[in-house]
Amino acid sequence: MARKFNFCAGPAALPEAVLRKASAEMLDWNGLGLSVMEMSHRSEEFTAIASKAESDFRELLSIPENYRVLFMQGGASAQFSLVPMNLLRGKKRVDYISTGQWSEKAIQEASRYADVNVAASTEATHYSRVPAQSELKLNSDAAYLHYTPNETIGGVEFGYVPESSGVPLVADFSSSILSEPIDVSKFGLIYAGAQKNIGPAGLCIVIIRDDLLGDELEQTPSVFSYQSIAKNDSMLNTPPTYSWYLAGLVFEWLKEQGGLAAIQAINARKAKKLYSYIDASDFYTNPIESGSRSRMNVPFILANEQLDAVFLEGAEKAGLLNLKGHRSVGGMRASIYNAVPEAAVEALIEYMKYFAASHG
Ligand SMILES: *Cc1c(COP(=O)(O)O)cnc(C)c1O
Repeated sequence: MARKFNFCAGPAALPEAVLRKASAEMLDWNGLGLSVMEMSHRSEEFTAIASKAESDFRELLSIPENYRVLFMQGGASAQFSLVPMNLLRGKKRVDYISTGQWSEKAIQEASRYADVNVAASTEATHYSRVPAQSELKLNSDAAYLHYTPNETIGGVEFGYVPESSGVPLVADFSSSILSEPIDVSKFGLIYAGAQKNIGPAGLCIVIIRDDLLGDELEQTPSVFSYQSIAKNDSMLNTPPTYSWYLAGLVFEWLKEQGGLAAIQAINARKAKKLYSYIDASDFYTNPIESGSRSRMNVPFILANEQLDAVFLEGAEKAGLLNLKGHRSVGGMRASIYNAVPEAAVEALIEYMKYFAASHG
């Protein structure tokens, strides 16, 4: 059985080496005679797996000492509510940048708890770019500034870290975390659902500066209070143990690849190859301004929409899976996260060339 190339936006491809290791350890982890899935989360063995995963994650991102790493549940979507519930801290206003569907969802949820000021929105130009720092209308009395560094659906990515008006910066890094080094010290809080660049669904990682812990809204459930989760080392209740373990294997794999600077170079090469081919072709187009293009999610449109189904069918036959664009955007989307090898991008380009030549 041959593995195919998977361009799914999420849950996304995992490194083959990680799946092999997990498979070898499935029935009997480390001679213990049981699977990681069957261990007590309070056992010595699982505690060791969990803390090794955290320390590798901290090492990869060079997370400073004064930040806590939380392993939570509820997906990135739960964080849309948990961020205002935990970070309003007596304030009433929050600043959000809108660059696409995920930031809009975050704004919708936040407006149940706070007055949302949309500091900038690129909706009028169909979210085809990110706003410049000079376009942001920020409030100094905001509890925080929230943005989405990579919009998974639209394929738009910030090439810079926005500066807030001195308030904590909050970022939904779900689809670009670990794709390149980031300066964590610029952020108050970072969150990322696991199923794109970290591991299996069910886990959401939060990185929070420790002075922001506490003062959550009184009705915040304990399992969703950053302070309670931090106090209990993310084991207030049973965490998603298997996802946590698998994320740990992905972090080990990333270290073996040379860390985030090395993976950043590979990601840049993959994205450049694909965009260069799209730009040179008169059959495919990408609607995003060149300075705002995502390195992780590459949407593209065929010259003739009626060929979409034929394109997808042929792609599947060629072993290229999950290229259908998001239902709201149409066309195609290739998600080329860390675990999608350069060979997958090359095979995709070859197929696109062949398809354009026979249908263009
Ligand atoms: C996938 C995604 C989400 C939603 O993640 P869930 O885990 O399904 O809640 C939120 N934000 C971004 C940027 C995403 O890519």
